[in-house]
Amino acid sequence: MLTIDDILNNFKLPLTVRRESLIMGAYKFAAAAHRGQKRKSGENYIQHSLETALTLAKIGMGSKTIAAGLLHDVPEDTSVTLSEIEKNFGEEIAQMVDGITKLGKIKLRESKEEYILENLRKMFLAMAQDIRVVIIKLADRLHNMNTLEYLPKDKQLRIARETMEIFAPIANRLGIGEIKGQLEDLAFKFLEPENYKYINELEEKYYLEGEKYTNQAIKEIGKELASEGINVIEISGRKKHLYRLFLKLKRKDMDISQIYDLVAIRIIMPDIPDCYETLGIVHKKYHPMVGRIKDYISLPKPNGYQSIHTTIFGPEGRIIEVQIRTKKMHDEAEFGIAAHWIYSEKERKGWRDYFFRKKAKVPMEELEWVRQLREWQNDIGRDDFEEFIEGLKIDFFKNHIFAFTPKGDIIDLPEEATPIDFAYSIHSEIGSRAMGAKADGKIVPLDYHIQNGQVIEILTSRENKKPSSDWIRFVKTSIAKTRIRQQLKRE
Ligand code: MN
Repeated sequence: MLTIDDILNNFKLPLTVRRESLIMGAYKFAAAAHRGQKRKSGENYIQHSLETALTLAKIGMGSKTIAAGLLHDVPEDTSVTLSEIEKNFGEEIAQMVDGITKLGKIKLRESKEEYILENLRKMFLAMAQDIRVVIIKLADRLHNMNTLEYLPKDKQLRIARETMEIFAPIANRLGIGEIKGQLEDLAFKFLEPENYKYINELEEKYYLEGEKYTNQAIKEIGKELASEGINVIEISGRKKHLYRLFLKLKRKDMDISQIYDLVAIRIIMPDIPDCYETLGIVHKKYHPMVGRIKDYISLPKPNGYQSIHTTIFGPEGRIIEVQIRTKKMHDEAEFGIAAHWIYSEKERKGWRDYFFRKKAKVPMEELEWVRQLREWQNDIGRDDFEEFIEGLKIDFFKNHIFAFTPKGDIIDLPEEATPIDFAYSIHSEIGSRAMGAKADGKIVPLDYHIQNGQVIEILTSRENKKPSSDWIRFVKTSIAKTRIRQQLKRE
């Protein structure tokens, strides 16, 4: 069982009084709101909020993101409203919580293709507004996957598939390797239980066997480094994630003797010269395998990954992969953009600017994250992805907004679209019967300009009603204009 101390103890930034009281305040508020509620697992609901917050703390997120993580299910699952969160914690945190609630309202379509696109779009929308929302969603999903066994079978499969096809690629794109690996392994377990069991047993067997040699090599390398007077931050063994091992095995005709990085030794050094010096010392101690030395420090991988990899003949000729990198490189590989937060002095800048500029008027090509989105094509494997991105660039960023129905359907609209446009986009009957509208729960006039991401509810009359001729004046979509004219003519 987690307590708030676990979150505070794992907080990576300096724990100032202000930050600590924000986290404590959010915890108390969420615990009070969720009091008496249980998860399907039988645990108190607040455990889910704490698990989400713990993941966020571990990857180095700031206190506001952790507070939003603690509060993320409050408006959706309790009687406490978003405006009460805003009153207590301010607009920034309330907006994050609202973003997570909207992401949760997603309606899955029958068609797989459609629902992937739908989810992606929603993710993008959230990202464009605040990328922290997406990171909280990943932490939320990680705990939901960890407790997936308590849900009915059909839900398990749907959620596992969604995790594999949407959430893991998103974690990968954001460079949060640790979350990506865990999400994939958990989804793998539910999607391919037999393969999972096979790989799990296989790895267990080889890992246990290899552990002895790895530990010996770790000790020997540590001794050599110490005798040369070189400081090491950490030297440890790491296990390969099961799903990644499975994919690699499939490429190698399921021959595990062809896998050299089943067990790897990770050496974390203070700076770059130490990494090269360490490589020399490792090679002096153990023979390297020809053609297996990769210097990703000088030549980083396209996703920015940096490390030196070498494969050695370890104790008793055992093959072991060794990865050498600096602490900063390590954190960036594990925590992705979250690491930019840790390494940026100014909390408000850092990765937030790195990925996007809010309400950017700059050409899209200049934005780093648009380039990143393009790379999604590889992760998603969709042929028409390029087209999708092109469309996204024009529709989504230039002059389009997305609004949601109360059920979570997404309606694409041009900028300055009104509730009447929204109503006609759903159905011409809803259009003609429109009497009033709510935006995010508040009554708005029918010529109101819908804001990106708002939930719009159309209040309709019971009887058939003709549209008002005034509407033509302010509607923005051609579909609304055409329908209104048709309906008026019919009279
Ligand atoms: Mn949740």
